Amino acid sequence: MARFRVAVIGVGKIAVDQHLPVIAKSSEFELVGVVSQRGVAAPGVPTFADAASLYRALDVDAVAICTPPHVRHTLAREALAANKHVLLEKPPAATLAEMHDLTDAARAAGRVIFATWHSRYNAAVDTATARLKGQTLTRLAIEWKEDVRRWHPGQDWIWDAGNFGVFDPGINALSILTKIAPSPIFVKSATLLYPENRDTPIAASLTFRSTSEAALTAEFDWRQEGEQSWNIDVETAKDDKLRLTHGGSRLFINGAAAIDAPMREYEGIYSHFAELLRKGESEMDASPFQLVGDAFLVGARRSVARFDW
Ligand code: NAP
Repeated sequence: MARFRVAVIGVGKIAVDQHLPVIAKSSEFELVGVVSQRGVAAPGVPTFADAASLYRALDVDAVAICTPPHVRHTLAREALAANKHVLLEKPPAATLAEMHDLTDAARAAGRVIFATWHSRYNAAVDTATARLKGQTLTRLAIEWKEDVRRWHPGQDWIWDAGNFGVFDPGINALSILTKIAPSPIFVKSATLLYPENRDTPIAASLTFRSTSEAALTAEFDWRQEGEQSWNIDVETAKDDKLRLTHGGSRLFINGAAAIDAPMREYEGIYSHFAELLRKGESEMDASPFQLVGDAFLVGARRSVARFDW
């Protein structure tokens, strides 16, 4: 079967770390070009300065938009207008209204659009989801603490309003939460810590409520040096204790190691995208994004020490 012809737009860290190598190994996709403002090249394919030039020059089935979120809506709209299928890195847009508009625009164009949530593509997350189905949560604690200088070196866009700040990694935890939670989750309160010289938060504390009485919390922090923490602890009324660690790739159930699988998130994303393309179906789950938006809606703002790289 012919492979889907895909181009990558925005050749930054995640495109180089994951998208390009995963496409290169894929039996379902073939990289035909990249779009890079800075003129970054990928082996064996042409680089275009903008997407319009790519669409004029090449026959492309789909694009993967790997830019910061504030420019994603414009690029996705342009791709749909050019009759291309679209894969969106997370977060899928700058606002929920933009995301919903893309869902509608893809439907109108008869194209597939796919909002990827990479942290969901882990066997441990699937197993936790199955284990928690039908259960009642009594406690859930997310601890997502990392060093921004290590994971986003020099990425100044991350501090611009509309680009999420610490919710850029935090939304990964929320994408796991919204997958594993057995009942709906709402943001109850939030405290957002903004460096005095920046427009997005460097840390956030959230509490949630659900349909049952439960202590549900999240701590996001970009100031963590040394060991990094991407953990979710869950307890249920049946006295099950689940612990997801390493960003959702390892699972402990009642203290015993249940799953410790190597990360293959982007392989999972591209094989799911191929399946969606074959079926002609879009997938635009807004639930992690909704929680982030709600945290900004209900959140109290505090000013903390300035941040410089
Ligand atoms: P990055 O290294 O800054 O790369 C983003 C690239 O997008 C830039 O290098 C640039 O590439 C292009 N771009 C287009 N318009 C831009 C604009 N107005 N401002 C800045 N760059 C622009 O960022 P990244 O870490 O790859 O993150 C990109 C997206 O992937 C984010 O939404 C992030 O949440 C997500 N993500 C990142 C990681 C990670 O580990 N870093 C992991 C998973 C998901 P060209 O010059 O080639 O056009």
